[in-house]
Amino acid sequence: MPLKTKQMKKIKEEVLDLKQSPLYAERIKNKVFPVIGEGSHDAEIMFVGEAPGKNESQTGKPFCGASGKVLDELLDFIDLNRQDVYITNIVKDRPTANRDPSVEEIEIYGPFLDRQINIIQPKIIATLGRYSAEYIMKKFNLGDQIETIGKMRGKIFETEAPYGKLKIIPLLHPAVALYNSFSRDDLKQDFKSLGGSTSK
Ligand code: URA
Repeated sequence: MPLKTKQMKKIKEEVLDLKQSPLYAERIKNKVFPVIGEGSHDAEIMFVGEAPGKNESQTGKPFCGASGKVLDELLDFIDLNRQDVYITNIVKDRPTANRDPSVEEIEIYGPFLDRQINIIQPKIIATLGRYSAEYIMKKFNLGDQIETIGKMRGKIFETEAPYGKLKIIPLLHPAVALYNSFSRDDLKQDFKSLGGSTSK
């Protein structure tokens, strides 16, 4: 088994056994699954969302519900395939009734995301929504440049990861197109920054 697959498998096993998470009991009660992530372990681009929703926790796949459809449309717009990128979330279990992830949950699950980033070593991290933007910006020493997601969206922040150069591109969460707070065209506009940054 390739080393990266082995390391990812270890993360999955640890998350499956994460009894100290306040979301573990919900998982058992509702017969749902954690969502670890999906895609290429050699991806140049990693997408980081917030936490799984209902469909995701039922299937174990990230962004497979209504927000996922919007994400697929946006990936298609910039000619990217799901299998060439890696898609995950900060929080790996579904917060009850789709509420925002709590500080405690982000603290518990964040280290798993950190390990996934070190395994994949992406050149670009595209964050989906303000929680992942804040987490990733702080993690990569850009905490002083954090603004509202409305101001950061589509901007390219260059930084250094322990493994080399890294671009961070904060994007709006695809669900904003479903709540009508932004249009698909607004999202597409921001995705153009991402499309222009890849080596494709
Ligand atoms: N929203 C997220 O942030 N992540 C998912 O996987 C699905 C919806």
